[in-house]
Formats: sequence, C-alpha cells, structure tokens
Amino acid sequence: MTNKKERTLVVIKPDGVQRTLIGEIIKRYERTGLKLVGLKMIVPDEKFVENHYMLDAEWKKNAGSKAIASAKKKGETIRSEDPLEMGEFILGTLKKYISSGPVIAMVWQGLNAVGIVRKITGGTEPLTSDVGTIRGDFTIDSYKAGDTDGRSVRNLVHSSGSSEEAEKEIELWFDENEIIDYRLIQEEILYDVNLDGILE
Ligand code: GDP
Repeated sequence: MTNKKERTLVVIKPDGVQRTLIGEIIKRYERTGLKLVGLKMIVPDEKFVENHYMLDAEWKKNAGSKAIASAKKKGETIRSEDPLEMGEFILGTLKKYISSGPVIAMVWQGLNAVGIVRKITGGTEPLTSDVGTIRGDFTIDSYKAGDTDGRSVRNLVHSSGSSEEAEKEIELWFDENEIIDYRLIQEEILYDVNLDGILE
C-alpha cells in the first residue's frame, strides 16, 4: 500500500535563515507537489537539539562512522577513529550550531515525502553533495573545514532520514494542533488514477 500522507520534518538551520534562503529552500520542496502542513520559526535551545538527535539511539555511532569513512576516502586526518567519540564531537558542535539563532521548522506531506525531501536536500557534506540539491547548490562547506575549525558542517537544512524518524521528530517539534489537515487541488492530478475531470 502506498502512503499518500507520509510526513517528514525539514528544519532550515540558522545558516539558511542568515543566508536569506528561506524562500528559495521552501520553493524547492513546494514545487515537487508535496504539501506543507506545518510551519514555524523558533530558536531551539541546546537541550532541545540534543533531544532531537538522540531520538535515534544509533545516531551518534552512524554520524561518527559516516564522517570517518568520508575522511578516509579522501585521505584526510581524522579527529578520532572511534565512531562514538566522533559522534559525540559532532553532537557538541551541533548543539551550538542549531541553537545559535532562529530556524524554520516545517512538516511536508505526500507520497514518498521522506525520500523526495532527502533527494532535494542532498548529501550531508556540501563539497560532495550533488549539484541541483540545496546543499550542493547554495553553500560551500566540507567535513574537513568543519572538523578543523571545531564546528558543525554548515549545510543549511535538516531533513528526516526515515519515516519512523520523521514521526518521532515531528512529535518533538510540533504540537498536534500546529499541523493542519487540508486539501490541495493539485492532489487530484498527483493521485487520481484516471485523471478524469480535465476535459470539459
Ligand atoms: P544529515 O542527516 O545529512 O543531516 O547528517 P547526520 O545526521 O549524520 O549529521 C547531522 C549534522 O551534523 C549534519 O547535517 C552536519 O551539520 C553535522 N555533521 C555531520 N557529520 C559531521 C562531521 O563529520 N563533522 C562535522 N564538523 N559536522 C558534521
């Protein structure tokens, strides 16, 4: 069964807001056909950022492993060979980064919402993320630069990694009454089996 109401969380991080890219970023998600069902601006505190990343018990290890693998591939020196230690470092820098100013939190809904949003967002590191993605097109950072300067890789946006993750993240970021159920006329074109009702 396909889920036409799949939801995902997107957060425009403080650098995205400061770079005045809010409109550009929203446009990229909006034009896919996904529906914006929740939107707000907040300044998260460090505890909130930690809670967000700790929703996934494996996050520290996975983020650390990903960073180590990428550094090895490029022959770069690594801050730590231990994924957990590397993950701990990344989390510390993220708490500062994401709590440094206003962010825009959004819930996008529709068929394949998680996968479509991840594709448009692009890979974690702007240096290697694909051209045409938000992280590939609008910024310039690298793991090496972030690690050397002891800060997070600045990559403009966060988006949920899976549907299960999205559900937990949305529950953390939004109250139920902040998410709005409504109809968009274009859904009839996106989802209607017979595409009838076009011709008069
Ligand atoms: P995402 O799902 O693509 O955002 O990636 P992760 O969940 O693995 O990491 C969360 C965020 O931490 C990323 O978006 C980056 O801002 C930052 N980050 C991840 N890996 C590294 C790293 O190796 N070094 C630094 N400095 N920051 C990192």
